[in-house]
Amino acid sequence: MSLPAIELKQLSKTFGDTHALKGIDLQVSKGELLTLLGPSGCGKTTLLRLIAGFETPTSGEITIDGQSMAGIPPERRPVNTVFQSYALFPHMNVFDNVAFGPRTKGLQRKEIERRVHEALEMVNLADLAQRKPAQLSGGQQQRVAIARAVVNKPLVLLLDEPLNALDYKLRKAMQIELIQYQRQLGITFIFVTHDQDEALSMSSRVVVMNEGRIEQTGTPREIYETPRNHFVARFVGEINILEGTVVRREGDTLRVGLEGRTIELAPTSPNEFQRGDAVDVLIRPEDLRVWRLDELASGAQTFGATVCEVIYKGTTVDLILRLSSGKQLAASQFFNEDHEQLEFAIGEEVFVDWIPGWEVILPHES
Ligand code: ATP
Repeated sequence: MSLPAIELKQLSKTFGDTHALKGIDLQVSKGELLTLLGPSGCGKTTLLRLIAGFETPTSGEITIDGQSMAGIPPERRPVNTVFQSYALFPHMNVFDNVAFGPRTKGLQRKEIERRVHEALEMVNLADLAQRKPAQLSGGQQQRVAIARAVVNKPLVLLLDEPLNALDYKLRKAMQIELIQYQRQLGITFIFVTHDQDEALSMSSRVVVMNEGRIEQTGTPREIYETPRNHFVARFVGEINILEGTVVRREGDTLRVGLEGRTIELAPTSPNEFQRGDAVDVLIRPEDLRVWRLDELASGAQTFGATVCEVIYKGTTVDLILRLSSGKQLAASQFFNEDHEQLEFAIGEEVFVDWIPGWEVILPHES
Protein backbone atom coordinates (compact mmCIF):
# COMPACT_ATOMS: atom_id res chain seq x y z
CA MET A 1 0.00 0.00 0.00
CA SER A 2 1.31 3.47 -0.84
CA LEU A 3 2.18 5.93 1.90
CA PRO A 4 -0.59 8.29 2.97
CA ALA A 5 -0.20 11.77 1.48
CA ILE A 6 -0.59 13.26 4.95
CA GLU A 7 -0.56 11.78 8.43
CA LEU A 8 -1.40 13.81 11.53
CA LYS A 9 -0.69 12.35 14.96
CA GLN A 10 -2.05 13.91 18.14
CA LEU A 11 -1.73 17.36 16.61
CA SER A 12 -2.48 20.24 18.99
CA LYS A 13 -2.21 24.00 18.72
CA THR A 14 -2.71 26.60 21.43
CA PHE A 15 -2.77 30.37 21.03
CA GLY A 16 -2.44 31.77 24.56
CA ASP A 17 -5.57 30.47 26.34
CA THR A 18 -7.24 29.23 23.15
CA HIS A 19 -6.96 25.53 22.41
CA ALA A 20 -7.52 25.78 18.67
CA LEU A 21 -6.72 22.08 18.02
CA LYS A 22 -6.90 19.31 20.61
CA GLY A 23 -5.14 16.10 19.55
CA ILE A 24 -6.05 15.61 15.89
CA ASP A 25 -5.35 12.15 14.38
CA LEU A 26 -5.96 11.90 10.65
CA GLN A 27 -4.64 10.08 7.59
CA VAL A 28 -5.27 11.46 4.12
CA SER A 29 -4.67 9.13 1.17
CA LYS A 30 -3.10 10.19 -2.11
CA GLY A 31 -5.66 11.46 -4.60
CA GLU A 32 -8.39 12.11 -2.02
CA LEU A 33 -10.65 15.14 -2.02
CA LEU A 34 -11.09 15.58 1.71
CA THR A 35 -13.12 18.37 3.26
CA LEU A 36 -12.75 19.82 6.72
CA LEU A 37 -16.25 20.87 7.74
CA GLY A 38 -17.24 22.69 10.89
CA PRO A 39 -18.58 25.90 12.40
CA SER A 40 -16.63 29.14 12.61
CA GLY A 41 -13.76 28.89 15.09
CA CYS A 42 -13.59 25.05 15.19
CA GLY A 43 -9.96 25.04 14.00
CA LYS A 44 -10.21 24.30 10.26
CA THR A 45 -7.94 27.13 9.11
CA THR A 46 -5.47 26.44 11.90
CA LEU A 47 -5.21 22.82 10.77
CA LEU A 48 -4.56 23.91 7.18
CA ARG A 49 -1.96 26.47 8.28
CA LEU A 50 -0.12 23.82 10.30
CA ILE A 51 -0.01 21.47 7.30
CA ALA A 52 1.19 24.34 5.07
CA GLY A 53 3.85 25.27 7.63
CA PHE A 54 2.59 28.81 8.36
CA GLU A 55 2.15 27.82 12.02
CA THR A 56 4.11 25.44 14.25
CA PRO A 57 2.26 22.75 16.24
CA THR A 58 2.24 23.04 20.04
CA SER A 59 2.54 19.24 20.09
CA GLY A 60 2.08 16.31 17.77
CA GLU A 61 3.42 15.32 14.38
CA ILE A 62 2.78 16.09 10.72
CA THR A 63 4.11 13.68 8.11
CA ILE A 64 3.76 14.38 4.39
CA ASP A 65 4.54 11.53 1.99
CA GLY A 66 6.34 9.69 4.78
CA GLN A 67 8.55 12.65 5.75
CA SER A 68 8.29 14.50 9.05
CA MET A 69 7.56 18.21 8.53
CA ALA A 70 9.15 19.29 11.83
CA GLY A 71 11.36 22.28 11.07
CA ILE A 72 10.53 22.29 7.32
CA PRO A 73 9.52 25.80 6.13
CA PRO A 74 6.40 26.32 3.94
CA GLU A 75 8.32 26.76 0.67
CA ARG A 76 10.04 23.39 1.09
CA ARG A 77 6.82 21.43 1.70
CA PRO A 78 5.19 19.60 -1.26
CA VAL A 79 2.03 21.59 -0.56
CA ASN A 80 0.37 24.66 -2.01
CA THR A 81 -2.52 26.78 -0.73
CA VAL A 82 -5.44 28.57 -2.38
CA PHE A 83 -6.79 31.26 -0.06
CA GLN A 84 -10.28 32.68 0.18
CA SER A 85 -8.94 36.04 -1.01
CA TYR A 86 -7.06 34.39 -3.95
CA ALA A 87 -4.02 36.57 -3.04
CA LEU A 88 -3.17 37.30 -6.69
CA PHE A 89 -0.47 39.87 -7.45
CA PRO A 90 -2.52 42.85 -8.73
CA HIS A 91 0.27 44.45 -10.80
CA MET A 92 1.11 41.21 -12.68
CA ASN A 93 -0.90 39.81 -15.56
CA VAL A 94 -2.43 36.34 -15.46
CA PHE A 95 0.57 34.68 -17.13
CA ASP A 96 3.06 36.21 -14.69
CA ASN A 97 0.89 35.36 -11.69
CA VAL A 98 0.90 31.71 -12.71
CA ALA A 99 4.58 31.78 -13.74
CA PHE A 100 5.66 33.16 -10.36
CA GLY A 101 6.17 29.74 -8.73
CA PRO A 102 8.02 28.06 -11.61
CA ARG A 103 10.30 31.14 -11.94
CA THR A 104 11.32 30.97 -8.27
CA LYS A 105 12.28 27.35 -8.93
CA GLY A 106 14.75 28.54 -11.55
CA LEU A 107 13.25 26.50 -14.40
CA GLN A 108 14.16 27.25 -18.01
CA ARG A 109 12.00 29.78 -19.88
CA LYS A 110 10.62 27.19 -22.33
CA GLU A 111 9.65 24.83 -19.50
CA ILE A 112 8.01 27.68 -17.56
CA GLU A 113 5.97 28.67 -20.62
CA ARG A 114 4.92 25.07 -21.21
CA ARG A 115 3.78 24.59 -17.61
CA VAL A 116 1.94 27.93 -17.39
CA HIS A 117 0.23 27.29 -20.69
CA GLU A 118 -0.87 23.83 -19.57
CA ALA A 119 -2.25 25.20 -16.27
CA LEU A 120 -4.10 28.05 -18.01
CA GLU A 121 -5.52 25.63 -20.60
CA MET A 122 -6.86 23.47 -17.80
CA VAL A 123 -8.74 26.36 -16.22
CA ASN A 124 -9.83 27.66 -19.63
CA LEU A 125 -8.01 31.00 -19.36
CA ALA A 126 -5.34 30.71 -22.06
CA ASP A 127 -6.99 33.58 -23.99
CA LEU A 128 -6.85 35.96 -21.02
CA ALA A 129 -3.16 35.45 -20.14
CA GLN A 130 -2.33 39.14 -20.65
CA ARG A 131 -5.12 40.53 -18.44
CA LYS A 132 -4.52 41.92 -14.95
CA PRO A 133 -6.56 40.39 -12.06
CA ALA A 134 -8.74 43.53 -11.79
CA GLN A 135 -9.90 42.95 -15.38
CA LEU A 136 -11.26 39.50 -14.51
CA SER A 137 -14.55 38.30 -12.98
CA GLY A 138 -14.57 36.64 -9.55
CA GLY A 139 -14.78 33.16 -11.11
CA GLN A 140 -11.90 33.91 -13.47
CA GLN A 141 -9.73 35.20 -10.59
CA GLN A 142 -10.53 32.00 -8.73
CA ARG A 143 -9.34 29.97 -11.72
CA VAL A 144 -6.08 31.94 -11.89
CA ALA A 145 -5.52 31.19 -8.20
CA ILE A 146 -6.05 27.48 -8.90
CA ALA A 147 -3.77 27.49 -11.95
CA ARG A 148 -1.07 29.24 -9.91
CA ALA A 149 -1.42 26.73 -7.08
CA VAL A 150 -1.21 23.61 -9.26
CA VAL A 151 1.40 24.75 -11.80
CA ASN A 152 4.24 23.24 -9.78
CA LYS A 153 2.29 19.97 -9.33
CA PRO A 154 2.28 19.90 -5.52
CA LEU A 155 1.48 16.59 -3.82
CA VAL A 156 -1.27 18.28 -1.82
CA LEU A 157 -3.39 21.34 -2.53
CA LEU A 158 -4.93 23.09 0.48
CA LEU A 159 -8.01 25.19 -0.27
CA ASP A 160 -9.27 27.52 2.46
CA GLU A 161 -12.92 28.38 1.75
CA PRO A 162 -11.92 29.26 -1.83
CA LEU A 163 -15.46 29.75 -3.10
CA ASN A 164 -16.73 32.13 -0.41
CA ALA A 165 -16.47 35.28 -2.48
CA LEU A 166 -18.58 33.88 -5.32
CA ASP A 167 -22.33 34.19 -5.77
CA TYR A 168 -24.52 31.10 -5.41
CA LYS A 169 -24.65 30.04 -9.08
CA LEU A 170 -20.96 30.57 -9.76
CA ARG A 171 -20.10 28.80 -6.52
CA LYS A 172 -22.10 25.73 -7.61
CA ALA A 173 -20.39 25.76 -11.02
CA MET A 174 -16.92 26.15 -9.46
CA GLN A 175 -17.59 23.21 -7.11
CA ILE A 176 -18.01 20.97 -10.15
CA GLU A 177 -14.94 22.50 -11.84
CA LEU A 178 -12.83 21.86 -8.76
CA ILE A 179 -13.87 18.20 -8.63
CA GLN A 180 -12.92 17.89 -12.31
CA TYR A 181 -9.51 19.56 -11.83
CA GLN A 182 -8.82 17.30 -8.88
CA ARG A 183 -9.67 14.19 -10.91
CA GLN A 184 -7.62 15.39 -13.87
CA LEU A 185 -4.57 16.25 -11.76
CA GLY A 186 -4.75 13.36 -9.30
CA ILE A 187 -3.49 15.76 -6.60
CA THR A 188 -4.75 15.34 -3.01
CA PHE A 189 -7.10 18.22 -2.19
CA ILE A 190 -7.88 19.30 1.37
CA PHE A 191 -10.78 21.68 1.21
CA VAL A 192 -12.04 23.80 4.09
CA THR A 193 -15.68 24.81 4.24
CA HIS A 194 -18.42 25.58 6.73
CA ASP A 195 -21.07 24.77 4.11
CA GLN A 196 -22.43 21.24 4.57
CA ASP A 197 -23.90 21.00 1.05
CA GLU A 198 -20.54 21.89 -0.42
CA ALA A 199 -18.78 19.29 1.74
CA LEU A 200 -21.26 16.52 0.93
CA SER A 201 -21.36 17.18 -2.79
CA MET A 202 -17.62 17.57 -3.37
CA SER A 203 -15.72 15.17 -1.15
CA SER A 204 -14.55 11.60 -1.15
CA ARG A 205 -14.38 11.97 2.66
CA VAL A 206 -15.59 14.56 5.12
CA VAL A 207 -13.99 15.40 8.46
CA VAL A 208 -16.53 17.06 10.76
CA MET A 209 -14.81 19.26 13.34
CA ASN A 210 -16.05 20.99 16.47
CA GLU A 211 -14.12 22.95 19.09
CA GLY A 212 -10.69 21.76 17.97
CA ARG A 213 -11.64 18.09 17.74
CA ILE A 214 -12.75 15.66 15.04
CA GLU A 215 -16.33 14.56 15.69
CA GLN A 216 -16.52 12.10 12.78
CA THR A 217 -14.67 11.15 9.60
CA GLY A 218 -16.42 9.32 6.80
CA THR A 219 -17.81 9.36 3.29
CA PRO A 220 -20.53 11.98 2.70
CA ARG A 221 -23.07 9.17 2.85
CA GLU A 222 -21.80 7.80 6.17
CA ILE A 223 -21.75 11.26 7.70
CA TYR A 224 -25.28 12.04 6.54
CA GLU A 225 -26.93 8.67 7.07
CA THR A 226 -25.11 7.39 10.16
CA PRO A 227 -24.00 10.42 12.17
CA ARG A 228 -22.15 9.41 15.31
CA ASN A 229 -23.70 12.07 17.51
CA HIS A 230 -26.18 14.93 17.60
CA PHE A 231 -23.61 17.54 16.60
CA VAL A 232 -22.78 15.75 13.33
CA ALA A 233 -26.43 14.92 12.63
CA ARG A 234 -27.45 18.57 13.06
CA PHE A 235 -24.47 20.06 11.26
CA VAL A 236 -24.93 18.15 8.01
CA GLY A 237 -28.66 18.65 7.60
CA GLU A 238 -32.02 19.01 9.25
CA ILE A 239 -32.93 16.29 11.72
CA ASN A 240 -35.93 15.31 13.86
CA ILE A 241 -35.15 13.91 17.29
CA LEU A 242 -37.69 11.82 19.21
CA GLU A 243 -36.87 10.92 22.80
CA GLY A 244 -37.65 7.42 24.01
CA THR A 245 -36.85 4.74 26.56
CA VAL A 246 -35.68 1.18 25.93
CA VAL A 247 -38.42 -1.12 27.22
CA ARG A 248 -36.72 -4.38 26.24
CA ARG A 249 -33.87 -5.72 24.16
CA GLU A 250 -34.55 -8.89 22.14
CA GLY A 251 -31.44 -9.99 20.30
CA ASP A 252 -30.67 -7.30 17.77
CA THR A 253 -33.90 -5.39 18.19
CA LEU A 254 -35.02 -2.91 20.80
CA ARG A 255 -38.52 -2.23 21.94
CA VAL A 256 -38.62 1.47 22.59
CA GLY A 257 -41.32 3.53 24.25
CA LEU A 258 -41.78 6.53 21.98
CA GLU A 259 -44.51 9.16 21.88
CA GLY A 260 -46.94 7.04 23.91
CA ARG A 261 -46.46 3.74 22.07
CA THR A 262 -43.93 0.95 21.94
CA ILE A 263 -42.16 0.43 18.66
CA GLU A 264 -39.55 -2.02 17.44
CA LEU A 265 -36.20 -0.68 16.24
CA ALA A 266 -33.00 -2.30 15.03
CA PRO A 267 -29.97 -0.18 16.00
CA THR A 268 -26.61 -0.75 14.30
CA SER A 269 -24.97 -1.59 17.62
CA PRO A 270 -27.71 -3.08 19.83
CA ASN A 271 -25.24 -4.04 22.57
CA GLU A 272 -24.83 -0.38 23.46
CA PHE A 273 -28.36 -0.27 24.85
CA GLN A 274 -29.96 -1.72 27.98
CA ARG A 275 -33.46 -1.78 29.33
CA GLY A 276 -34.33 1.57 30.87
CA ASP A 277 -31.82 3.56 28.78
CA ALA A 278 -32.93 6.93 27.48
CA VAL A 279 -32.43 7.01 23.70
CA ASP A 280 -32.88 9.52 20.91
CA VAL A 281 -34.32 8.40 17.60
CA LEU A 282 -33.07 10.62 14.79
CA ILE A 283 -34.95 10.84 11.49
CA ARG A 284 -34.23 13.08 8.51
CA PRO A 285 -37.23 15.06 7.21
CA GLU A 286 -37.07 13.30 3.81
CA ASP A 287 -37.23 9.88 5.50
CA LEU A 288 -40.58 10.62 7.13
CA ARG A 289 -43.64 9.43 5.23
CA VAL A 290 -46.88 11.32 5.65
CA TRP A 291 -50.12 9.51 4.92
CA ARG A 292 -53.67 10.69 4.58
CA LEU A 293 -56.07 8.96 6.97
CA ASP A 294 -57.67 6.99 4.11
CA GLU A 295 -54.28 5.90 2.72
CA LEU A 296 -53.16 3.85 5.69
CA ALA A 297 -54.60 2.11 8.67
CA SER A 298 -53.02 3.18 11.96
CA GLY A 299 -50.19 0.68 12.62
CA ALA A 300 -47.85 -0.08 15.47
CA GLN A 301 -45.10 2.08 13.96
CA THR A 302 -47.39 4.91 12.85
CA PHE A 303 -48.07 8.14 14.70
CA GLY A 304 -51.04 10.43 14.38
CA ALA A 305 -50.16 14.06 13.66
CA THR A 306 -51.67 17.41 12.69
CA VAL A 307 -50.33 19.46 9.78
CA CYS A 308 -49.19 22.88 11.10
CA GLU A 309 -47.37 24.34 8.08
CA VAL A 310 -47.19 23.51 4.37
CA ILE A 311 -44.25 24.97 2.45
CA TYR A 312 -44.03 24.43 -1.32
CA LYS A 313 -40.36 24.14 -2.38
CA GLY A 314 -40.53 23.10 -6.04
CA THR A 315 -39.04 19.64 -5.73
CA THR A 316 -40.61 18.94 -2.33
CA VAL A 317 -43.48 19.95 -0.15
CA ASP A 318 -42.15 20.57 3.36
CA LEU A 319 -44.54 20.04 6.25
CA ILE A 320 -44.37 20.90 9.92
CA LEU A 321 -46.34 18.28 11.82
CA ARG A 322 -47.41 18.21 15.47
CA LEU A 323 -47.68 14.92 17.32
CA SER A 324 -50.23 14.51 20.12
CA SER A 325 -47.45 15.17 22.68
CA GLY A 326 -46.94 18.60 21.12
CA LYS A 327 -43.60 17.53 19.58
CA GLN A 328 -43.06 19.08 16.15
CA LEU A 329 -41.55 17.23 13.21
CA ALA A 330 -40.26 18.50 9.86
CA ALA A 331 -41.16 16.28 6.90
CA SER A 332 -40.14 16.71 3.25
CA GLN A 333 -42.36 14.95 0.74
CA PHE A 334 -41.09 14.45 -2.81
CA PHE A 335 -43.38 14.53 -5.80
CA ASN A 336 -43.59 11.13 -7.48
CA GLU A 337 -46.09 8.86 -9.16
CA ASP A 338 -47.18 7.15 -5.95
CA HIS A 339 -47.49 10.31 -4.01
CA GLU A 340 -48.46 12.97 -6.51
CA GLN A 341 -51.20 14.44 -4.38
CA LEU A 342 -49.30 16.53 -1.87
CA GLU A 343 -51.94 19.18 -1.31
CA PHE A 344 -51.98 18.93 2.47
CA ALA A 345 -54.12 21.45 4.33
CA ILE A 346 -53.17 23.21 7.53
CA GLY A 347 -55.03 21.56 10.40
CA GLU A 348 -55.42 18.25 8.52
CA GLU A 349 -55.05 15.06 10.55
CA VAL A 350 -52.49 12.63 9.06
CA PHE A 351 -50.40 9.59 9.91
CA VAL A 352 -46.65 9.73 9.93
CA ASP A 353 -44.05 6.96 9.93
CA TRP A 354 -40.67 6.34 8.35
CA ILE A 355 -38.93 3.71 6.28
CA PRO A 356 -37.94 1.05 8.85
CA GLY A 357 -34.20 1.08 9.50
CA TRP A 358 -33.63 4.60 8.17
CA GLU A 359 -33.62 6.04 11.69
CA VAL A 360 -30.46 6.49 13.76
CA ILE A 361 -30.60 5.51 17.42
CA LEU A 362 -28.22 7.24 19.81
CA PRO A 363 -27.89 7.47 23.59
CA HIS A 364 -29.97 10.43 24.79
CA GLU A 365 -28.22 13.80 24.78
CA SER A 366 -29.84 16.64 26.68
P1 ATP B 1 -13.58 30.17 10.38
O1 ATP B 1 -14.54 29.24 9.69
O2 ATP B 1 -14.29 31.30 11.07
O3 ATP B 1 -12.44 30.60 9.53
P2 ATP B 1 -11.94 28.14 11.65
O4 ATP B 1 -12.66 26.87 11.91
O5 ATP B 1 -11.08 28.19 10.45
O6 ATP B 1 -12.99 29.33 11.62
P3 ATP B 1 -9.61 28.91 13.13
O7 ATP B 1 -9.38 30.15 12.32
O8 ATP B 1 -8.72 27.76 12.89
O9 ATP B 1 -11.12 28.45 12.97
O10 ATP B 1 -9.57 29.33 14.67
C1 ATP B 1 -9.66 28.39 15.74
C2 ATP B 1 -9.55 29.13 17.05
O11 ATP B 1 -8.22 29.60 17.22
C3 ATP B 1 -10.44 30.35 17.16
O12 ATP B 1 -10.90 30.43 18.48
C4 ATP B 1 -9.53 31.50 16.83
O13 ATP B 1 -9.95 32.69 17.45
C5 ATP B 1 -8.19 31.01 17.38
N1 ATP B 1 -7.04 31.54 16.62
C6 ATP B 1 -6.72 31.26 15.34
N2 ATP B 1 -5.58 31.89 14.98
C7 ATP B 1 -5.17 32.61 16.06
C8 ATP B 1 -4.05 33.46 16.33
N3 ATP B 1 -3.11 33.70 15.41
N4 ATP B 1 -3.98 34.00 17.57
C9 ATP B 1 -4.90 33.74 18.51
N5 ATP B 1 -5.96 32.94 18.32
C10 ATP B 1 -6.10 32.37 17.13
